[in-house]
Amino acid sequence: MAASDAGQVALAAGCKLRILRLREGVFRSFSPRNRIYALSMPSDPKVIVTGAGVAGLSAAVQLAHAGVQVLILEARERLGGRILTRHDPATKAAVELGAEFIHGRPPEIWGLLRQHKLEAREMVGEDWCAGDGELCKCDFFPEVDEILDKLDDRAPDQSFLDFLASCCPNPRQQESKKWALGYITGFHAADPGLISIHSLVKGMRADEEIDAERAFRIPGGYELLVEWLRKELLDAGVAIQLGATIESVTWKRGSVEVNGQCGTDRFSYTAARLIVTLPLAVLQAPLDLAGAVRFSPELPAEKLGALEKLAMGKVIRATLCFRERFWDDLRARGGSESKTLADMRFLFSQDEWFPTWWTTLPEKLPIITGWAPSNRAQKLSGRAEDFVAEQAVQSLSRLLNVRKSEIEGLLESVYCHDWQSDPLSRGAYSYVKVGGNAAQQQLAAPVENSLFFAGEATDFSGHHGTVHGAIASGHRAAAEILNG
Ligand SMILES: Cc1cc2nc3c(=O)[nH]c(=O)nc-3n(C[C@H](O)[C@H](O)[C@H](O)COP(=O)(O)OP(=O)(O)OC[C@H]3O[C@@H](n4cnc5c(N)ncnc54)[C@H](O)[C@@H]3O)c2cc1C
Repeated sequence: MAASDAGQVALAAGCKLRILRLREGVFRSFSPRNRIYALSMPSDPKVIVTGAGVAGLSAAVQLAHAGVQVLILEARERLGGRILTRHDPATKAAVELGAEFIHGRPPEIWGLLRQHKLEAREMVGEDWCAGDGELCKCDFFPEVDEILDKLDDRAPDQSFLDFLASCCPNPRQQESKKWALGYITGFHAADPGLISIHSLVKGMRADEEIDAERAFRIPGGYELLVEWLRKELLDAGVAIQLGATIESVTWKRGSVEVNGQCGTDRFSYTAARLIVTLPLAVLQAPLDLAGAVRFSPELPAEKLGALEKLAMGKVIRATLCFRERFWDDLRARGGSESKTLADMRFLFSQDEWFPTWWTTLPEKLPIITGWAPSNRAQKLSGRAEDFVAEQAVQSLSRLLNVRKSEIEGLLESVYCHDWQSDPLSRGAYSYVKVGGNAAQQQLAAPVENSLFFAGEATDFSGHHGTVHGAIASGHRAAAEILNG
């Protein structure tokens, strides 16, 4: 169990009392937010939803609005899954440990924002680059675009690394190739030797449709979105059981039985249908690992094949909160820039640990976040938080040319979560391996009108790996049940 969830698990004794029936006034609430304890369960749920991330919550909302009785089973002691917002006591800022940005203007999120009369704030500012001890404004974007424009989904599929090896022999492009590699590795959290260029083309087309190069944040944090979904479930009278780790699913046409462990108690629920929203790497996990789920009979061969063609990306992000924004006064040393970093939005580099950083702009808070993707995340995963923090501070010191001791002197707190070591996610978000372009659709396909699949990895429109893709997948799975 990951460190940040462990404390809550200790509170989880007495499973029968930890069933949430989200109808206010009927059941007692012990917690203002997620943990509402209830005294009874729906006797006959028509649909069970496994996982209370945004995919499961969105599916449940849609089904409940259509009058279907739903039970959500969630292993964690909280809702939201890979959305996890903390609040830094010193700055009062919302600090995200999972998803942070709304990529562009996806209707799944902007619809909710409109409904709740909230505007997301766009992250505007300057993009700086660091390398060879120098800082300067980034000028690599047009050249990286030139390389990415060569990605072609009519040619045979190949990995991004293979594509780079043959796409651009011009020695002038060597530096741009490094930035392109950093971009694909960073944004997709992917192993460049595995990720499919066909999937990248599909993703870029999907991104264009929603203006995804723009990044927005929800003031107050992404958890507000989870909270809005929780309230909708509350109004619709949906039951949620937290701390309920599913271990096995026995299924046949028209019925499912879900068994698992909740605190010291075993549970067993039956329903006509099940929506599985477990993260890709949980579905891929060998059965002897925590969180893994045994399906009896085994999932169809096509679905098992699909699981092999998808991979879970890795990320460690570290958010450093300082007493002051010391970079506001920094100028490029040895470079030609006369400006300071006061308007810095992103800082890009090829640092060996944390190559990408971003600030809280447009809010000028003394907070900066480092992003260690793919093989860098692999090296950091499983290590103590102090080690991660140490590497993050060292990276920042190298990139900004500021003494490490100076940075440490101003540092108030560090926030991170190891999603790879967390048995309920086993990674950050999914990507498609070479030759796997049908895999997401195969993973999403219902089985025998009993098993339905949602979650970011089942999005097959190019929006996998995102919050809006996860929400859309929940809506799709609910519609499959309602229209079935
Ligand atoms: C570090 C990081 C940064 C990210 N940044 C962004 C971003 O900026 N923008 C963006 O759009 N997306 C981002 N994402 C991706 C986004 O968070 C996910 O795509 C999305 O939240 C996934 O939602 P989901 O419902 O599919 O899965 P999850 O949120 O993972 O929900 C699945 C649920 O299943 C539960 N579960 C697992 N195993 C079991 C079991 N055996 N029994 C019962 N329950 C179980 C889990 O606890 C979890 O709550 C980021 C992700 C990470 C990790």
